[in-house]
Amino acid sequence: MNIIIFGPPGAGKGTQSDFIVKRYNLFHLSTGNLLRSEIEKKSPLGEKISAIVNKGSLVSDDIVSTLIKNIVTMSEYKKRIIFDGYPRNLSQVKILEKILSDDKQKIDLVLKLSVSLETIKKRILERQTLEKRADDNEATAVKRYKTYEDSTEPVIEYYKKLNILKEIDGERSIDQINKEISDIIDVK
Ligand code: AMP
Repeated sequence: MNIIIFGPPGAGKGTQSDFIVKRYNLFHLSTGNLLRSEIEKKSPLGEKISAIVNKGSLVSDDIVSTLIKNIVTMSEYKKRIIFDGYPRNLSQVKILEKILSDDKQKIDLVLKLSVSLETIKKRILERQTLEKRADDNEATAVKRYKTYEDSTEPVIEYYKKLNILKEIDGERSIDQINKEISDIIDVK
């Protein structure tokens, strides 16, 4: 089963993905993590990516799509990926559909964690003290939330029309959300 998890920055996508990966033996494909490891390499590409990520803007579709294509088409990850942070706009949806259909795969389930901007601001500031991510500060969090609403909400609407979207109240405890997600996956 291939799953996409959506939610604004700080919604708990990473935490919930870790849980889903262990329980259902899936592979966690986080474009944010892939980009951060590219930045750590301090390559010319990494420097370019760093400037964009730290502003809270989206990296180009070409860069991100190249990063994911290699993983999606690997035989060991076939039909067992949880996509976290991708696709983030409608052109990435088209790119992902092409990559998947060329490889006889599809998206089976889409999860959306809904969390308010007020909660996001609090969580991002908490995470900043733990993970020290350069893009975790209030101004960037607000910008990323806005980018999510403008670019990613239309993507969610797209999957809603396909009837594979499940909306989850992300304001609740980690355990309550875990439980709801397992119940959804178990009946799939
Ligand atoms: P995340 O860890 O998913 O919150 O992503 C952190 C940052 O990485 C985002 O604010 C973007 O700058 C960049 N990023 C992650 N995924 C994508 C994507 N699919 N397309 C463009 N930029 C992305």
